Amino acid sequence: MPSGKELSGRRGGTTKKNAFCSFCRKSYRDVGPLVEGPGDVYICGECIELCQSILDQEQKRRGSSKRLFTKIPSPREIVAQLDEYVIGQETAKRVLAVAVHSHYKRLVVAEAETDIEIDKSNILLVGPTGCGKTLLARTLAKSLNVPFAIGDATTLTEAGYVGEDVENLLLKLLHAADFDVESAQRGILYIDEIDKIGKTSQNVSITRDVSGEGVQQALLKMLEGTTANVPPQGGRKHPEQQYIQLDTTNILFIVGGTFSGIEDTISKRLGSRSIGFGQAGDAATEMSLGETLAEVTSDDLVEYGMIPELVGRLPVVTALQPLQSESLVRVLQEPKNALVKQYQHLFAMEDANLKFTEKALHAIAERAAKRETGARGLRSIIENVMMDIMFELPDQPRGNHYMVTDDIVEGRTKMFNKESPKIKSA
Ligand code: ADP
Repeated sequence: MPSGKELSGRRGGTTKKNAFCSFCRKSYRDVGPLVEGPGDVYICGECIELCQSILDQEQKRRGSSKRLFTKIPSPREIVAQLDEYVIGQETAKRVLAVAVHSHYKRLVVAEAETDIEIDKSNILLVGPTGCGKTLLARTLAKSLNVPFAIGDATTLTEAGYVGEDVENLLLKLLHAADFDVESAQRGILYIDEIDKIGKTSQNVSITRDVSGEGVQQALLKMLEGTTANVPPQGGRKHPEQQYIQLDTTNILFIVGGTFSGIEDTISKRLGSRSIGFGQAGDAATEMSLGETLAEVTSDDLVEYGMIPELVGRLPVVTALQPLQSESLVRVLQEPKNALVKQYQHLFAMEDANLKFTEKALHAIAERAAKRETGARGLRSIIENVMMDIMFELPDQPRGNHYMVTDDIVEGRTKMFNKESPKIKSA
């Protein structure tokens, strides 16, 4: 082996026009400058980049496998982490924290090679749009420092049909893990809209069920634990392709769905009535949507159209509550990356100070609540409100204070309220 000094002495682009890269065999003419090593050895820029990423990955892999098992956070610690980003949803947080804690403990047990195998607990989240299902899964992965990917069950079809194979979901996880297979095998995969592949759902195909039961069967295998062949380029599998083998045994699957209308099934079983879905009735048997959803069981899911085997593989079922406007006000300002904080940060970058009055926050929350898309609507509403001032801000003198009032939110004025003598209108 040449010493580093020797190598660095020779480093530099070669001038030999007929040289070719010793790694990929491409010629100087095709790939441009080559670095010359001792004994007629050359390497091209592309191969250098590739080598660098291989080394980076290896380093990351070593780091991450050490990190995961140094300490598994306790359920209490997990809930505390979730609290930083997710408002409310206390029950779901506790259920998730316990399930995730057990899941990673299970991996440690597996490593210790004892006879006891702890079954894995994949998780099903039921709850209306925009109430934090994806956010919970994402925040979990972040706090545990494991790869995380989001997939959508509605894009999946049975093998042989136009659409995606379930393996493509695993590919997303591999991407998130920078193709580090070992780390991907301990990751968290969130699959959204699981309720849309129920066998009772309407299918476009008249000849065969392309999106219902077949997909559930394919998902079932993945959830149970299998060695999947993942096509590294994505898309449809074909025979000549090289696959990456991924063992799904230790991947934690969190699936989510709105299961709209399931409250009727639950109410029927409970003999109660859901508010908002019928005439006013006996108060004793009346329950809010949130209260009803909280009672969801595996049987309700089967009745809804999920195959019993799949539900059986999702032993942890928990419901999230719809976010009322009080919670939406908190979503606006409390999480670590709350929208209000984000805007204040943008203003601070222009040396300006930004505040929202309580009434303004309530007006934004009320408007979002009306849209019935949970916290999802908040961003577009606040962006609309802030549009004009964001346009003007960089041209304004520095050091100004701005106050967003309910009048601005409701469109009654475009003037930002004065808070100190320096205040400017937008
Ligand atoms: P879904 O339940 O449909 O998966 P998401 O988790 O994707 O909803 O929520 C959409 C966005 O709304 C999130 O990115 C987050 O900003 C906000 N959000 C939703 N629920 C909450 C919550 N409980 N606490 C804080 N923010 C939330």
